[in-house]
Amino acid sequence: MAKDYYQLLGVHKNATETELKKAYRKLAHEFHPDKNPGNKESEEKFKEINEAYEVLSDPQKRAYFDQYGTAPGAQQGTGPGFGGSGMGDIFGDIFEEFFGGGRGRSRATAGDDLRFNLKISFEDSAFGTTTKIRVPRWERCPDCDGTGAKTKDGVATCTVCHGAGQIRMQQGFFSVSRTCSRCNGEGRVITDPCTTCKGRKRMERERTLSVKIPGGVETGNTIRLTGEGELGAYGGPPGDLYVFLTVEDHPLFTREGQDIVCAVPISFTQAALGTEIDVPTLNGSSKIKIPAGTQPGQVFKLRGKGFPHLRGSGSGDQLCRIMVEVPSKLTAKQKELLQEFERLNSEESTPLTRGFFNKVKDLFGEKTKK
Ligand SMILES: [Zn+2]
Ligand SMILES: [Zn+2]
Repeated sequence: MAKDYYQLLGVHKNATETELKKAYRKLAHEFHPDKNPGNKESEEKFKEINEAYEVLSDPQKRAYFDQYGTAPGAQQGTGPGFGGSGMGDIFGDIFEEFFGGGRGRSRATAGDDLRFNLKISFEDSAFGTTTKIRVPRWERCPDCDGTGAKTKDGVATCTVCHGAGQIRMQQGFFSVSRTCSRCNGEGRVITDPCTTCKGRKRMERERTLSVKIPGGVETGNTIRLTGEGELGAYGGPPGDLYVFLTVEDHPLFTREGQDIVCAVPISFTQAALGTEIDVPTLNGSSKIKIPAGTQPGQVFKLRGKGFPHLRGSGSGDQLCRIMVEVPSKLTAKQKELLQEFERLNSEESTPLTRGFFNKVKDLFGEKTKK
């Protein structure tokens, strides 16, 4: 039975060109052999969808298919359009050459996806930003319109294969055809090469693209720019560009989920006496009240000062983690005052210490001296 190309691409019979292209792109990506190495089933599937797209993307072939249920030139029960050449052969053609240099009968092929690594600041990851990136990709040479020739007469039919792109040879009982080496299967050779691309048909061009980064992104997030990857071959759609984000470290803040964590040092007297301090946030400074008797590691929350949720609404908090700094150098006067302070220190003012030594006493009795 002939294959139903519409079914293969998962589109209905009235699908527009854009719908076809979209369906094809999605499937081509999914079943691309690079993504499924060694998987025969997806290789087969990939061939089928290429075949389907090749027919349906051509208005004439599509009309023929709509009327007769097979592609023009197809023999009943076999794949259409593939004539004497083996499937494997076609398959190889697609992947060896993405661009115009391919071998004649190759199929429409989706362009490669591109990856761009982008570093953004901590602030930009929180608030979002729009930034410009410069991305190189291969594009059709504008001067020769991708023909590789300086003028229309700069292309001639290959004299070796007479335009067939293939050379047939008799080997014992078999007739073997191989790709013409003179024209690389194109059937045509460039006699007067375009001076801009030197006959290569394409040029590497740097493009400036605008990337919109939403607030709340983190390292490892990617942003897809549809259709900004490498161009497709033989009418195939272009690939996508994936922007991989890396968020730079911040000297004061770290991120934990949607929260921003900031370590805030205070002196041990501030911790003991209580105070009000200014702490930095991503949008200016905020005041927090440090109550008397604040302990190291205690956390004070600034609501809504964290990262916005990428999907949905609201934001995380800023968590100010208190570090109590013990003075590392004392003047004679400070030392004297602290010694005086220690003499006045009562067990009530240091419940942690008291609790600890009470537990030690319970466990080891009188053997341990305080
Ligand atoms: Zn040739
Ligand atoms: Zn050119």
